[in-house]
Amino acid sequence: MRYHLVTLGCAKNTVDSRRLEQALRGGRHLAVTDPADADLLLVNTCGFIDAAKAESVSVIRELDAGRRRDQRLYVVGCMTEIAADDVRAAVPGVDATFGVEQWDAIAAQIGAADERFDIPERTLPAFGQPSAYLKISDGCDRPCTFCIIPAIKGRMHSDDTRRLVAEARMYAAAGARELVLVAQDSTAYGEERGERDGLARLLETLAEAVPEVPWIRLMYAYPGRVTRTLAEAMARLPNVLPYLDIPMQHGSDAVLRRMKRPSLRVARRSLDAIREAMPAVALRTTFIVGYPGESEREFEELLAFVERERFDHIGAFTYSPQRGTPAGDAPDQVAERVKESRYGRLMELAQRVSLERNRAMVGRETDVLVESTEPTRSQSGGPIVVGRTYRDAPEVDGLAFLKGEYPAGALVRARVAGALPYDLLCDPVQARTAATHTG
Ligand code: SF4
Repeated sequence: MRYHLVTLGCAKNTVDSRRLEQALRGGRHLAVTDPADADLLLVNTCGFIDAAKAESVSVIRELDAGRRRDQRLYVVGCMTEIAADDVRAAVPGVDATFGVEQWDAIAAQIGAADERFDIPERTLPAFGQPSAYLKISDGCDRPCTFCIIPAIKGRMHSDDTRRLVAEARMYAAAGARELVLVAQDSTAYGEERGERDGLARLLETLAEAVPEVPWIRLMYAYPGRVTRTLAEAMARLPNVLPYLDIPMQHGSDAVLRRMKRPSLRVARRSLDAIREAMPAVALRTTFIVGYPGESEREFEELLAFVERERFDHIGAFTYSPQRGTPAGDAPDQVAERVKESRYGRLMELAQRVSLERNRAMVGRETDVLVESTEPTRSQSGGPIVVGRTYRDAPEVDGLAFLKGEYPAGALVRARVAGALPYDLLCDPVQARTAATHTG
C-alpha cells in the first residue's frame, strides 16, 4: 500500500511520525509525496493549543475533500488522543482515528503490503537534513496548570538507553551531523526508574557511542532541574553543544506560582550552574503572555526579567485556554487585544536583545553546519549557503548565511562578519570535518 503522511505540530510529533513510518515500512508500505498517488492518507495531528487543533482540522478537511472514494483517511496523534469526537464531528468521513503511540496498531490495521516495493535508502535521516531528532522520553509528571500534555501523553516514561544508542548509531551511519535530544521534560530522564542524574549519564553514553556526530544538542530542560552534575557533563563532553533550551514560561514569581512552575530563585540555580560551567553557552527560552490574571505589573516583571537575563533566543505564545486544564476554566482570562499588545511588546524587546547578542558574536570564529543543499546568491552575487552555528537549534532559532559553496552536512570554520536581529552573516575560515567544543 502507498501512504501519504502529513505531520503537524512540534519536533516531537516529527519523531512520532518517524516511528509510525518505521512500523509502516516494516509492513513494506511505501511513502508517496503526492496524495493522489496514495491508497492511504494519514494525518498526525497536534492538539496542543486551539490554533493547532484548527490547523489539524483544516488539513484533514482538505485531504477529505480532495480524495477519491478508494482512498482511506486515518487521523492519528495528539488531537485524536484527546478529542477524537471533535475530529469525527468536523470531518465525518474519516475512516479511523488512533491516539498517540499506537503505531503498531495502525500498522496492524493496515496489514502487510501484498505488493513488494523497492524502498529507497535515505542518505540522511531527517528527510534530507543533516540533523536528526532523538526523543529520549515522553509524557510528563509536572503540574503546570496551562498544559494539556500530561493528559495527552500520560506519565513520563523514559526510553531505554540501549535503544537510544542504537537509534543514534543508525542516524550516525546515515550521515547525521547533529542529534537533537527532545522530550517533554528532558531533565526527568530516568527518574521513573529511580536514576539520579540520568540525563547526564545518557549524554555521556551517547557522546561516547557516536563520537563521529559532532553536535549533540539538548532541548526542553525544566527550570531548576539542571544540576551542577549535568552542566559539568555538558561542558566536559566534546560533542555536546554549549546550548540549552530552558522554557521559563514567565518572569513574574506570582504568575509562576499560579502556573505551578518553579520560582525565579529556583530557576536561577540552573541558569547560574549552566553559565558557570559553559561561559559561551547559548540559552533559549519560551514565555506565555496573557496567562489568566496577568496584570500589567506582572507583565512588566516579565519584561524586566528578559532585559536582565539576556537569553539568546526567545519564543513566545499568547495564552490559549485548554479545556481540561486548571487554567482553562479560570474566570480571569486576559482580553485578546491585551494579550496581542503584550506579545508585541515582548517580541520587540526580545528582538533587540537577540540583535545585541548576535552583534557580540561579530569577529568571533565558530563552526557553521551547512543545511541547504542548493547554494543561493548573496547581494554581491557570490554564492552563499544556509546553515546554523551551535547557538541555533534547527527550525526554532536563527540561521547563519555562509559565503561559498558547501554540501549539506559540511561543518565549516567561519568568522562572523555581520549580525541581523535573528541571523548571522559568516565568512569561511577553512573547511574541516571536526568541531571544537565551543562551536
Ligand atoms: S513541564 Fe512542559 S509538558 Fe510538562 S506539564 Fe509543564 S508545560 Fe506541560
